[in-house]
Parts: sequence; C-alpha cells; structure tokens
Amino acid sequence: MTKLHQGGCHCGHVRFEINGVPRPVLVCHCSDCMKTVGNSMAATAALNDDITITGASLKWYQSSDFAERGFCSDCGAQMFYRRHNTHTISIAAGMFDDASVLKSNGQIYRHAHPGFTPLPEGFPDIDDEYEADHFAMEPHS
Ligand SMILES: [Zn+2]
Ligand SMILES: [Zn+2]
Repeated sequence: MTKLHQGGCHCGHVRFEINGVPRPVLVCHCSDCMKTVGNSMAATAALNDDITITGASLKWYQSSDFAERGFCSDCGAQMFYRRHNTHTISIAAGMFDDASVLKSNGQIYRHAHPGFTPLPEGFPDIDDEYEADHFAMEPHS
C-alpha cells in the first residue's frame, strides 16, 4: 500500500500530496539556494506523476538557465525546485506536515557554502552521486 505524504506552505494556500516514497533529503549549499532560500536548502524529491500541487498563489521563478523555483506568492515560502525537461520535482523538506518520515542522504556544493556557520561533521558529500544519478528515485543506503 502506498503512503500519501502531504504538506504545504506557511499560509496554507499552496498544498501538495505525494503518492509514493519521497527521495532521501539532500542539502544543497549552492549560491542559487543561498539567494533564494536565504540558506542551504534541504530537499527531497518526487516524480512529477506522483505529486499533486494545488493553490493559485504558487508562482515559478526562473533561477537559472536550466531550472526554476516554486514559491507561494502569499507567504513567500520557497517550496519547489525543478530542472527543465525532467520527470522529477524537488520539495523543501520543511514543507511536509510530518517531515519525520524523511531520511537524510548527504550534502552537495559544500565548497560553495559561505561559511557563516559550521557545517556538520561526518555528513556525507554526495556531489558525484548527485551529478551522476541526479534523478534516481531509489532510496540510497
Ligand atoms: Zn503560502
Ligand atoms: Zn542549491
């Protein structure tokens, strides 16, 4: 039986439902995340076919040549990230009503972190895995 995972933004106007198992969370320290989220972004992901998003206040911001970010234009919550022409969407981990269902995988772009806070020791760098296997949906052990 597939489990339904639900979540939404701070004001509740944008909601989503995922039918299936969300990918393990990765933490991205890239400069685009810094400038849009205000800090590193912890995100899981789901197949486009497995997620339903509702809410007229959802807007998409083109954050690079190859990707856009979805946010609630009422409360400002940065919720989603997706590359163009792919079959998955990233979802900010904190948007889940019950984020305790999520597992963490590792971090990417640690070298880009501006260094205002110590990064956790022992948290795996998965840049290579991410680049090689960006859209793999299998949980990583
Ligand atoms: Zn909102
Ligand atoms: Zn990033």
